[in-house]
Amino acid sequence: MHNLLHNLNPEQLAAVTLPAQSALILAGAGSGKTRVLTTRIAWLIQTGQVSPAGILAVTFTNKAAKEMMTRLSAMLPINTRGMWIGTFHGLCNRLLRTHYRDAALPQTFQILDSQDQLSVIKRLLKANNIDDEKYPPKTVMYFINNAKDQGLRADKVEAYDPIERKMVELYQMYDDQCQREGVVDFAELLLRTFELLSRNQPLREHYQQRFKHILVDEFQDTNDLQYNWLKLMAGHGQSNGGGALFAVGDDDQSIYAFRGANVGNMSAFEREFKVQNLIKLEQNYRSHGHILDSANMLIANNSKRLGKNLRTDAGHGEPVRIYEASSDLAEAQWIIEESKSLIAEGASRSEIAVLYRSNAQSRVIEHALFSAGIPYHVYGGQRYFQRAEVKHAIAYLQLMDNPHNDSAFLRVVNFPTRGIGLRSVEALQAAADQYGISLYAAVPYVAGKAGSSLGNFVKLVEGARFETQQMPLPELVRVVLEASGLLTHYQTEKEGADRIENLEQMVSAATQFVSEEGFGQGAPAHLGPKSLAQAGDAIVNEDGIEIIDADAALPTVMSPLSAFLSHASLEAGDNQATVGQEAVQMMTVHSAKGLEFNNVFITGLEEGLFPHESSSREEGGVEEERRLMYVAITRARQRLYMCFAQTRMLHGQTRYNLKSRFFDELPEESLKWLSPKVQSHWSANSRKSAWDETPLVGSDNAIAQKLVQKSVSTGAGWRIGESVAHGKFGEGVIVNLEGSGSNARAQINFGSHGMKVLDLSIAKLDRL
Ligand code: ATP
Ligand code: MG
Repeated sequence: MHNLLHNLNPEQLAAVTLPAQSALILAGAGSGKTRVLTTRIAWLIQTGQVSPAGILAVTFTNKAAKEMMTRLSAMLPINTRGMWIGTFHGLCNRLLRTHYRDAALPQTFQILDSQDQLSVIKRLLKANNIDDEKYPPKTVMYFINNAKDQGLRADKVEAYDPIERKMVELYQMYDDQCQREGVVDFAELLLRTFELLSRNQPLREHYQQRFKHILVDEFQDTNDLQYNWLKLMAGHGQSNGGGALFAVGDDDQSIYAFRGANVGNMSAFEREFKVQNLIKLEQNYRSHGHILDSANMLIANNSKRLGKNLRTDAGHGEPVRIYEASSDLAEAQWIIEESKSLIAEGASRSEIAVLYRSNAQSRVIEHALFSAGIPYHVYGGQRYFQRAEVKHAIAYLQLMDNPHNDSAFLRVVNFPTRGIGLRSVEALQAAADQYGISLYAAVPYVAGKAGSSLGNFVKLVEGARFETQQMPLPELVRVVLEASGLLTHYQTEKEGADRIENLEQMVSAATQFVSEEGFGQGAPAHLGPKSLAQAGDAIVNEDGIEIIDADAALPTVMSPLSAFLSHASLEAGDNQATVGQEAVQMMTVHSAKGLEFNNVFITGLEEGLFPHESSSREEGGVEEERRLMYVAITRARQRLYMCFAQTRMLHGQTRYNLKSRFFDELPEESLKWLSPKVQSHWSANSRKSAWDETPLVGSDNAIAQKLVQKSVSTGAGWRIGESVAHGKFGEGVIVNLEGSGSNARAQINFGSHGMKVLDLSIAKLDRL
C-alpha cells in the first residue's frame, strides 16, 4: 500500500493525522496546505476511520476538485467518482438535484451564470419600465448577490432610503421571476441549500451524521453564507454533534473581499468551534529564497494579520529582476525577450506565467507574443461556455430540458432569424404577464402571424426533443446543432469558421462529460422522469422523515442532459485558469491563485494599476492589493520578474503612472534592477508632501504634448488639456487627472520645470 505519510514534514504530518476534531491549518503560500488536505482525506479512508461517502471536501474551483480526486485515486485503490468533493456551488447543485422537491424547485431547474443573471435583471427592469440609469442592472445584481451572500431574502433586507426600497422590491421581483422560470443563480444555489437544511430537520440530521469529516481549502475566501453553510453541515451547536471541520487557509491570501469573502471567518471559526488544533506550516516547498523573502517582507506591511512567516531550504536562488520600461509596448517587448531566453535555456513555455492586475493589460502583451511567434494562452478572457455561439446552442438544450427558462427562450427564439420580430415578442410577453406563465407556455395565446411563427419555433423544440428521446447526449447535441439552424447560420457567415469549430467542440465536450461522470456512453440523454423521481423519493419520504440513503452520485439524480447543462454553467462561473498547454500562460493574479510556475512575470506594477486605483477609495483596499501582490509573488518557483512602464495606454487614454509603492516594500538585497533604480516616492511619513511635488520619473514631454491636444473633460471641474498657472512652477498644461474629491490629482507639464503631480485639494492653481 502507498505510504501516504513518508513525504511530509513534522507539522504537515501532525496536521494530516489530527484526531477527528475541528482544526485550523493556518499557513502561508506553497507550504503544502492543499497537499495536507488531500493526504488527510486519503489517510482517514486508508486507516478505516471513515468511508469515502463520509467525506465532504470543498475546493475553490471545479478543476481543483478534479485534481484532488485524481490524486486520491493515485494514493488509494478507490473510485473517487461518487465522492462529495467539489466547489460550494457544485455540492449545492448536487444536493438540490437530489432534494429538488423539498427545495421547491422543478426537477430540471437550470443554473444562471453571471452573464445570464445580468440579462434576467435587464429584462426585468425593461418589463417594468424601470429607468436603468437610476438602477443600473449591474448595481441591482450586486445588491441582490450581496444580500444572498449574507443569507438575506428580500423581506429581511433593511432599506433606509427610497432607492434601497426599490432595490429590495426588485430583489423580490427577481426572485419571483427566477422561481417562475425554474432558474437559480450562483448565490441562490447556496442560499437555497442553506434554507432547505435549516428548515428540514431529518434531512439536516442525515447529512450531519453522514459527513463525519468536512474539509475546506482556501478557507480565507469563504463568505458569510458559506461559513454558515459549513457550520450547519458540521452540526455546530447541536447536541448530537456533527462532522469535524478541517479548514486550511492563509489570511494573507484573502483576495475576494469584493465578492463578500470574509477573512474574519478564520478567527470566528477558531472561536465558535473552540478549535484546539491550530497548526501553522511555515516551511515553503515552492519558491527559492529571494522570492520568499520578497513575499515575506512585502506582506509584513499589512496590519491585520494572524501572524506567520515562511522559510525555505531551497537556497537564495536568483534575485528578483525588475525592469522599468518607457511604455507598455516596451514592457511587453522586454517580456518577450526574457521569455525567449528562458525558452532558449530549456524552459517549457507552460512554465512561464505572465500575471497582470486587470484583463485590459493583456492585449498589448498578447500582441507582442503573437508577433514574436511565441504560443500563448490567455485565461479569464471569455471561457468556452460563455462564447456567444456556445451560449446559443446551450439555450436550445436548456429549452429542451426546461422550456420555461425565459432567458434561453429569448436568446434563440429568433436566432438564427426566423421572422419573429420585437412586436411578436412583446405580444408574447404581454400574454405571459397576463396569465403569469412562461413565454413558452404563452405561445398558444398569441394570435395571427406572430402566433404561427412562434408556434413553429415551439414545434422545432418539441420536435428535437421527440427525435432525441432515446439518444445518448453527444448525439443529441449533434442533432440540436443541426436542427436549430445554428450550423447552417454560421456556415453562411464570413467569419463563421471559428464559431462552427466551437460548436462542434461541444459534441466532444459532451462525449468527455458522459464518460467522466460515469453515465455510460449509450445512456439516453433524457433520463426517464420515473427513474429520477425514484431517486428523489428514495431519500426522504412524503413526510420527510424516513431517509434511506443519500448517496447521490450524479447519474442517479440527474439526466445526462441536465447534468451537462449544470456543468456548463458552473464551469462558466469558475474563476481559475486551467493550465496544461505548451504555451506561455497569461492570466490575472486572481485566477493564478493556488497555481505555481517556474517563471513568473508580474507586470504593470504602477500606482493606480497595482495597487489598483479603486483600492484608495475603500477601507483596507491597499491591504487587499498587497495580499494580491503576495499571491502573485508566491506563484513563482525559480524566477520572478517584475516590471512597470512610464506611460501606458489604457481604456483609450495615455496614463503616466508612478511606479508601484510595493517596490519600496521589498528587500533591496533580493532585487536586481535591470534599469537604473528610480527614486522612491513612497517614504512612509512624507506621503502627503510626496504627492504635492513629485517630479514624474522619466517623463516624456513629447507624448505629454500630444495628449494636451486631446482635451478630455472630467467631473472635477478641471480638464485635460487646460492651461494653468502655479505660484512656484509657472505655467503648465494638465496632461492627466485622476481620483476625485479630496483625492483628486493632476499631472501637469510645467515645461522647463518638468512634469509634476499635484494634489488638487492642496495645490493652488489658477486657470489661464
Ligand atoms: P497555496 O497557498 O499557493 O495554495 P499550498 O499551501 O496549498 O499553496 P501546495 O500547493 O499544497 O501549497 O504545495 C506547494 C508545493 O510544494 C507543491 O508543489 C507540493 O507538491 C510541494 N510540497 C508540499 N509539501 C511538500 C513536502 N513535504 N515535500 C516536498 N514537496 C512538498
Ligand atoms: Mg493550495
